[in-house]
Amino acid sequence: MKTKKIKFGDVEVGEEFIVMAGPCSIESEQQFHKTAAHVKKCGAHILRGGMYKLRTSPESFQGLGSDSYGLVRKIKQEFGMPFISEITDPRQIADMMDFVDVFQVGSRNMHNYALLKELGQTDKPVLLKRGFAGTIKEWLLAADYVVKGGNENVALCERGIRTFETATRNTFDINAIAYIKQNSSFPVIADTSHGTGETSLVSPVALASAAAGADGLLIETHPNPAEAQSDGFQALNFDQFEDLMTSLPKVLEAVGKKMKA
Ligand code: PEP
Ligand code: MN
Repeated sequence: MKTKKIKFGDVEVGEEFIVMAGPCSIESEQQFHKTAAHVKKCGAHILRGGMYKLRTSPESFQGLGSDSYGLVRKIKQEFGMPFISEITDPRQIADMMDFVDVFQVGSRNMHNYALLKELGQTDKPVLLKRGFAGTIKEWLLAADYVVKGGNENVALCERGIRTFETATRNTFDINAIAYIKQNSSFPVIADTSHGTGETSLVSPVALASAAAGADGLLIETHPNPAEAQSDGFQALNFDQFEDLMTSLPKVLEAVGKKMKA
């Protein structure tokens, strides 16, 4: 099926390949600034950074929350990149409206229909992650909740599912990438950071996703992954991110696609 083109800030999604990158969590001004500068230099189109983190343990770092709003505004102004961040509660919509360009709905909230309905009432683009136990059908129906409210700016994000396999954190369902392209009009983004859960696997599976038809990537990168407050084990360091960005155009060319300039 033909993919619908939507806009993430001023970046068109659904035709040329785009890359969203940044830290799992925004931790400090120094960490976020360094990361933004690096991903921009390497050609990423959109900056990611978690402010509200849904962690398995309540003892784990929960994100800087509203304490990061000022920092994000400042970094956005300096680097001029659209910004994507996870929204975990409909009450955050009003606060985040003016500086978050794409609302990310996390895997744990794919079935949060109250949140999806509220996002349907806005005109802000939504990146809907697949629930780690969600079928493709349930994922597409979750997307319809947003569209039904009147917001058609929806892209899907495959981020791995839970299977019997335990060697990796999640099983990245590459079938889903090709399936969505063939059977729906939503753009589809590959998050191979969560999809694999292991740094060394992130780039190979990202390249495979590009070959399978993904419209873009969502990648976690950190200046010092060993010290990251969340998901350091799956973050690319700066050299690894740069290598991925160098390899992508060649794979895209092989399947008749192009990286956005
Ligand atoms: C994230 O993007 O950092 C995240 C929490 O992702 P997911 O919802 O896919 O677990
Ligand atoms: Mn993460």
